[in-house]
Amino acid sequence: MTSLIERLPAVRGRYTEDADLAKTTWFRCGGPAEVLFRPADADDLVEFLASRPADVPVTVIGVGSNLLIRDGGVPGVVIRLARGFTEVSVEGERLRAGAGALDLNVALTAQQAGLTDLEFFSGIPGTVGGALRMNAGAYGGEIKDVLIEAEAVDPFGKRHRLDAAAMGFSYRRSTVPAGWIFLSALLQGRQGDPAAIAQRMAEIRKSREETQPTRARTGGSTFKNPEGHKAWQLIDKAGCRGLRIGDAMVSDKHCNFLINTGAATATDIETLGEEVRRRVFENSGIRLDWEIRRIGVPSQRGPGAVVEAGPEAGPEAGETA
Ligand SMILES: Cc1cc2nc3c(=O)[nH]c(=O)nc-3n(C[C@H](O)[C@H](O)[C@H](O)COP(=O)(O)OP(=O)(O)OC[C@H]3O[C@@H](n4cnc5c(N)ncnc54)[C@H](O)[C@@H]3O)c2cc1C
Repeated sequence: MTSLIERLPAVRGRYTEDADLAKTTWFRCGGPAEVLFRPADADDLVEFLASRPADVPVTVIGVGSNLLIRDGGVPGVVIRLARGFTEVSVEGERLRAGAGALDLNVALTAQQAGLTDLEFFSGIPGTVGGALRMNAGAYGGEIKDVLIEAEAVDPFGKRHRLDAAAMGFSYRRSTVPAGWIFLSALLQGRQGDPAAIAQRMAEIRKSREETQPTRARTGGSTFKNPEGHKAWQLIDKAGCRGLRIGDAMVSDKHCNFLINTGAATATDIETLGEEVRRRVFENSGIRLDWEIRRIGVPSQRGPGAVVEAGPEAGPEAGETA
């Protein structure tokens, strides 16, 4: 039988078969990509999309800070934008950033150029591509507030320029079709005081360290805040703080974060998330929606058993998100 990789077009970037994705995601779990493709640059990606077999599914990932990859892995081709997509350059009061650039590098480049309004990027541990897809935001800023235009490529390899209105941004969401891949973003900054910019970024770092398990294996906020509510408060009220399934646990520090405390499987984490949703609905009548993106296919192995939170799992000060 012909393997998938043999059916794929010749590229300048790299294909890897049966590629371990767990090590590239924040949760550190989940199955492999049937084929992982790291395009050399935007032209390489465009040519790949234009000439790949139509039946091959394609999924793009950033640095996996908002992603749960199921244990059975991801069929088809997973695209990771790395070298060739990470440049951040200053154009007057604007910044042009490749979709593979880390949000932190956007903030740092802006700081070095004395540009303000972009400090919030330092609070988001993803890439520019992930930020465009998720309308990422933190500490009073969202990418929708500073985006002039994004460049994207559709599943057939046609390039598009999208202004902020065409992105269809709302809370943690863009309406750009799921199969489109962002290539870059042009962002608007404003001349500011370099000392004040550095101070704001230091405040953001401190606040994150105090309120989030920033060094844990997590996917960040698991559920969106429902209109008029904070997801963490609903989860806390439903008694889920510290709840465990296998090595998956509802964070004690920020209970809208799920954590892999050791060898949790994606099934453990997803089942725990669903158990939290069930308990919150029972307790408050509100259905939480997943903010974390779940991709891939489940494995046959079931989850671990539910373990109720211990008495030590009490609310902590400073929980804000
Ligand atoms: C500790 C922690 C704190 C966090 N705090 C915040 C926060 O304050 N605010 C916030 O908004 N988020 C937060 N997050 C979530 C996450 O960092 C953001 O959603 C981020 O934008 C995801 O970027 P990523 O590169 O990791 O994308 P991934 O997690 O890899 O992917 C997320 C989605 O984006 C899509 N995607 C990725 N790249 C592209 C591309 N080039 N083109 C099209 N689609 C693409 C993927 O297909 C997937 O659907 C936090 C996460 C963690 C772990």
